Amino acid sequence: MAKKQAPLKYKLIVFDLDETLWTVSDGLCNLIEPPFRMATPDRLVGQRGLWVELQPGVRDMLKVFNERGAFVSLASRNDAEPTKKLLEFMGILDDLFEPQLCWKPKEESIEKIIKLLKKKEGVSVKPDEVLFIDDWPENISAVRRWGATALLYGQDVLSFEGLIKILD
Ligand SMILES: [Mg+2]
Repeated sequence: MAKKQAPLKYKLIVFDLDETLWTVSDGLCNLIEPPFRMATPDRLVGQRGLWVELQPGVRDMLKVFNERGAFVSLASRNDAEPTKKLLEFMGILDDLFEPQLCWKPKEESIEKIIKLLKKKEGVSVKPDEVLFIDDWPENISAVRRWGATALLYGQDVLSFEGLIKILD
């Protein structure tokens, strides 16, 4: 029987989407319209050649976090419906707990996820049990003030292959 791995030190891990979990050809991902196709395993292309591409290691990372019992979610400033369609076509929507795709401040989106975790899963999460990763320094400082650990993608986190190691 497989040995059960030790739980991660964060119960909830929340990612920004554009320029964090994936790169966008131009502007915001919610501008990409169907029909979609996968040009490579990680690059989704929509109309007019606009695309999003997952950063290396994202699929494996989501799998590992979920296997180790953490809840993984998103706080992304985008319109919900078109963005959800991209996540679904990309095949990662089911790896995410109640992703927040809206125009609210990131800390409000995280609070919403925590409320939903309590309501739907009976799990209580305190701010210091949350890890947040985003490519915008303003979002990082706001979430730090709120009480979570927040890491700047591109500076504190350089790759998702490396992230799992610093969480152990
Ligand atoms: Mg971003």
